[in-house]
Amino acid sequence: MPVHKSTVLLLRCRDWSETSQVVELLAREVGRLRCLAKGSKRGQNPFSGPLDRWTLGEAVFSISSPNRLATLMELYETGRFDGLRRKLPAFYGASLATELVMALVPDLDPQPPVFDLVVRTFELLAEAEAEASRAVTFAFTWRLLALLGYGTDIGRCVQCDRPLDNHKPLQYSAGLGGPVCPQCRPEGKGKIHRLTAKTAQAMAFLAGADWSEVRRVRLSQRTAREMRDVLVATVAELAGKELSAARYV
Ligand SMILES: [Zn+2]
Repeated sequence: MPVHKSTVLLLRCRDWSETSQVVELLAREVGRLRCLAKGSKRGQNPFSGPLDRWTLGEAVFSISSPNRLATLMELYETGRFDGLRRKLPAFYGASLATELVMALVPDLDPQPPVFDLVVRTFELLAEAEAEASRAVTFAFTWRLLALLGYGTDIGRCVQCDRPLDNHKPLQYSAGLGGPVCPQCRPEGKGKIHRLTAKTAQAMAFLAGADWSEVRRVRLSQRTAREMRDVLVATVAELAGKELSAARYV
């Protein structure tokens, strides 16, 4: 049975029995997987359990087959992002980030840049002022989509590649995965979202700006609502999943 060592981030922990838990985690060098943590709720265990989501650590685990639960053998905790549990906007941001990773990142597909992005986002959310959480959360979402190959250039029509005027409102098609010019507006390809020029500019900025600049951005209710609608529609298109934390961000 192959044994792996990896830096891991716990995404979700569920009780499995009186004494054990099943843990969904993202392993930097292995990808997303589900592990059985035998005895993690007993007094003495090799994980300092019971285990809690949003724990960062160094783990040893074995994978017998891709279709079966892996076995968590050891976990040494290195971080807990305490701010995520204390501040509501940070909590919702981390909840949405977790849902997105579970919806979009495939099992056992190592993607260290995705891992690093999630950890960086959790660090920022845990430390940031509450007002900055929204911008950090949406910056995460557009960056995650880009890393997974679903990125979009907000300045060009996704169909014909014509440049779009970024001072005008934008028509965005989640079905096509990007903005569309008036000529390419699709028939019957799902709903078109109308974004104000401000929202479109903010999306482009959050996708690429340095995190120190992202942290200074304060998104209005309207911009956040427009981004949320696009995000929810995009994830529904890509994964057929609803994002339950989205409405709180
Ligand atoms: Zn076009």
